[in-house]
Amino acid sequence: STDQPRSDAAPAEQDPTTWVRVALDVPLAGLFDYRVPGRVEPGARVIVPFGRRELVGIVMETPDVPAVAAEQVKDVIQVLDDLPAFPADWLKLAAFAADYYQRPMGEVMLPSLPGPLRKPASYQGARSAGGPVARLDARAAKAARPRTSRRGGKRREEEGGEDMPDPAVRSPDDASAALAPVLPQLNEAQEAAVDALAGLAGFKPVLLHGVTGSGKTEVYLRAAERVLKQGRQVMLLVPEINLTPQLEGVFRRRLEAIAGPGGVAVLHSGLADGERLEAWLRAVRGQARVLLGTRLSLFTPLPALGLIVVDEEHDPSYKQQEGLRYSARDLAIWRARERDVPIVLGSATPSLESWHHAQNGRYLLLSLPQRALASAPPRIRLLDTRNQRLVQGLAPQLLKAVGERLERGEQSLIFLNRRGYAPVLHCDACGWVSGCTRCSAYMVLHRQASGAPGGAARHELRCHHCGWQHRVPAACPDCGNQDLQPMGRGTQRLEEHLAEVFPGARVARIDADSTRRKGSAQELFARVHAGEIDILVGTQMVAKGHDFQNLGFVGVLNADAMLFSHDFRAPERLFAQLMQVAGRAGRAGTPAEVYIQTGYPEQPLYQALIRHDYAGFARYALRERESAGLPPFAFQALLTAEARELAQAQEFLAQARALPERPDLAGGTDLSQCADLARITLYDPVPLRVVRVANVERAQLLAESDSRPVLQAFLRAWSAALPRLPAAARVRWHLEVDPLEI
Ligand code: ADP
Ligand code: ZN
Ligand code: ZN
Repeated sequence: STDQPRSDAAPAEQDPTTWVRVALDVPLAGLFDYRVPGRVEPGARVIVPFGRRELVGIVMETPDVPAVAAEQVKDVIQVLDDLPAFPADWLKLAAFAADYYQRPMGEVMLPSLPGPLRKPASYQGARSAGGPVARLDARAAKAARPRTSRRGGKRREEEGGEDMPDPAVRSPDDASAALAPVLPQLNEAQEAAVDALAGLAGFKPVLLHGVTGSGKTEVYLRAAERVLKQGRQVMLLVPEINLTPQLEGVFRRRLEAIAGPGGVAVLHSGLADGERLEAWLRAVRGQARVLLGTRLSLFTPLPALGLIVVDEEHDPSYKQQEGLRYSARDLAIWRARERDVPIVLGSATPSLESWHHAQNGRYLLLSLPQRALASAPPRIRLLDTRNQRLVQGLAPQLLKAVGERLERGEQSLIFLNRRGYAPVLHCDACGWVSGCTRCSAYMVLHRQASGAPGGAARHELRCHHCGWQHRVPAACPDCGNQDLQPMGRGTQRLEEHLAEVFPGARVARIDADSTRRKGSAQELFARVHAGEIDILVGTQMVAKGHDFQNLGFVGVLNADAMLFSHDFRAPERLFAQLMQVAGRAGRAGTPAEVYIQTGYPEQPLYQALIRHDYAGFARYALRERESAGLPPFAFQALLTAEARELAQAQEFLAQARALPERPDLAGGTDLSQCADLARITLYDPVPLRVVRVANVERAQLLAESDSRPVLQAFLRAWSAALPRLPAAARVRWHLEVDPLEI
């Protein structure tokens, strides 16, 4: 058995076989048993044969006997020893995530590792001797200074910088002295927040609520500095790094003054494999004391974790929308509890879930009610579009405001959450519209990046759901009419129109289309900051993180579309988005103005918005949620089925829905043994709003309970039984726990 230490007295011939139970990144539930000569610890990585492939897996257990007949168990090909085994708390986090989100364990753990660590090829062949970690270390050792000076630097750090500096090395303290940032004098609210955080021992979720510019970042920094001085590590999660290099700069400058040069590791999906491996390793080895990253960094093992910060905690990008559909914010809270450390959730517009917890006392609420700098908050006005003549979707007052700012040399931003030229191409004569042949959606008209300036603009049709692209037909495919018209407006058409109305102005657009090339978003933002742009047209991309010093005016178009969405969370997202765009403006002296065009100015959401009253909005929205029995007053999971034909998807979902009363459907699985079915509601299966994408039909079924544990127990049994349903063979299905979009 594996638990017996190999005794020296044992004869060498005795087979010291260890059975290992391995997690693999394959879409199959469960773990897989292998045999390995000698001893292996849980948390070790191994290369194993799987079907005709070889895969890297992680050892979860070393059972006494294999789950199948010993002669069927295959041998491990290689035990990877370039890293110590993963620590128990990390395995526990992965096990929790796998269980909570109903996914195979390997699908949680392996994708979270830097690419080279999960590819067998990195360890095989002559050029890969030692594996990627060993190669990286060898390179680092070659470049490294003598050992002694490094230890000197470390000791100084631990003792608070009191030592005599070693002239041979530039210590962290020298670097910080040269670049020492002047710390702002905290205002009263910040002081209170920093003190409250300093007083926390152990796990406590804190909701830091403060408008954009209220100085939340300064509070994170102070809390982080304190934890770093205790020699511990800080995990700082942000929704987006690529777009906001200045954020990375601020954190590096401030925190490397304590953590030392290179003491801040940054992780996001835009890094090359090698960069990501290096940053990950530094964090895992405790060399980087700060890990700043997007949701994917949540799963990084951190030996000395002392604090977690989740900035913009409401941001939907913390939710992964494929594979393991996890919420990095929610798992961060679990991780903080497990490690018994404080966690700070910061936002100007918290998720209603977090706000609800703060109201009922589960989270500690800290507020920063004022902007840190003396600038006035922007004035928000509603432009009632019901009694206006709009030109190209723009109200006259909005154009007038842009014109005035232009004369004063200030910038304007027009916010429209719809990219492309026009949402659809249309035939007046017969009513034909440009539908996608592969999806139940319209093809969006796009203006292509054209060649010569002044040349005729070329257009094409694109499907935003399946990516299909098409030339614009010269005539209506149904009736031959040659006068096809764009209908509605996207950012491109708006940009074109504004350039016509303000011929002298420099107009630019920031959206997913204009920033496709790597680095182009940064270039565009840099031009705005440098004052080379007068009028900026943008989607939600512009709302994230950038403060434009010279931005005097923000105009918002088409907000009503989200007000009446089928998705019950859309108003919450709309409020957050509008507060965020409004927050981009007016940090520099001149009072900024925000105009929102709406046909429904009396709506409570807009009324709360013009008062900058998040709490008022939340009170109203939570009351609505409560009376409708929606989250955070209920817990949900969404079962989605995809098939060639809608009827197949519907049939599978109908069987899934009937399963609690029909154990026979899945070979006698009696769900009532597993969960309190009286507290579970299964709704009727419905087709998705865009039912067909790339010729696949999609339908879904919502499961709901007033209790999270009851729902969890049900989902565990239900998802285990689903593959046995008669209709399961004809569909692909996935389960999403705590879905954000319904
Ligand atoms: P938030 O993260 O809440 O949007 P920031 O922390 O970015 O706000 O602060 C907004 C601006 O105010 C920044 O330029 C920051 O340097 C400055 N600031 C923050 N706190 C103070 C303070 N106590 N005194 C002066 N300036 C401050
Ligand atoms: Zn026609
Ligand atoms: Zn399509």
